[in-house]
Amino acid sequence: MATLPLYLYNESLKGDTMRKELTILDLINFLETVAPNKIAFGWDNTGLLIGEENTVVKRVLLTVDVTVKVVDYAIEKGFDTILSHHPLFLQPLRKINDPLYMKIIRNRINVYTMHTNLDLVSEGVSRALADRLELTEIKVIPNTGVDSLLNEEEYTGEQLGLGLIGNLAKEMELKDFAIFVKERLGANFVKLWPAASRVDLKVSRIGVCGGNGSSLIDVVSPYVDVFVSSDFTYHKILESRIPLIDAGHFHTEFPIMKTLQEKIEKLSIEVEVYDPKLAEINKLIII
Ligand SMILES: [Zn+2]
Repeated sequence: MATLPLYLYNESLKGDTMRKELTILDLINFLETVAPNKIAFGWDNTGLLIGEENTVVKRVLLTVDVTVKVVDYAIEKGFDTILSHHPLFLQPLRKINDPLYMKIIRNRINVYTMHTNLDLVSEGVSRALADRLELTEIKVIPNTGVDSLLNEEEYTGEQLGLGLIGNLAKEMELKDFAIFVKERLGANFVKLWPAASRVDLKVSRIGVCGGNGSSLIDVVSPYVDVFVSSDFTYHKILESRIPLIDAGHFHTEFPIMKTLQEKIEKLSIEVEVYDPKLAEINKLIII
């Protein structure tokens, strides 16, 4: 695992004017300690997607997605680095002529992505979601998604998994819990599927997965009263034996932004989270 340069650990050097400036490589070395690139799924595209390792990093913008609006905001506000959860592109590029990519390159902005590696670590996307829902006694559900992990055998760190389970401090009725989820995540709406239960079912054991958790329903079902995630498909909903709350892809992943901000701030550089109210998903009209 990459190590952090000593000067970053040493608080006493904070005011040292001779301190070396932070480069994107230093930032990468730090982020590797948060969620190593090598644990990302084989189909994924993580790490430094655009940029040069020796450029100085002073201002980092954190965002779930790299959209035109996000890039324009970064340029306007003078950010040199965008750190995203979703990759700017997944497929290998044969040509670089996309106006968005050209704009990023012309403005010398680094784009770094932490995607499935950040989903899989125990302090990652789902943990931030669980914390936002005030769950306690949080545990990783082993082997949730890890079966397709390319380099699992090389990884000797903590237990990995896409899904987590935890307890509510006090049990709630299912419908009240759905309202609680909506409010805690700042979502405009959530979708509640009660399965065979009534909406006044008392729930306390909660399963969570940030982003698309459709494939985990069967795995978490034996352990939880209700599963909070997003992007549940029609057939998965109908087949589910437990109640489901779809709180939206964006809103179940957004909480990790704050976690990353707190971690990166320790490097004494400026870090801002892109305002969720400006996110593209807010264009969605519920009629
Ligand atoms: Zn996602």
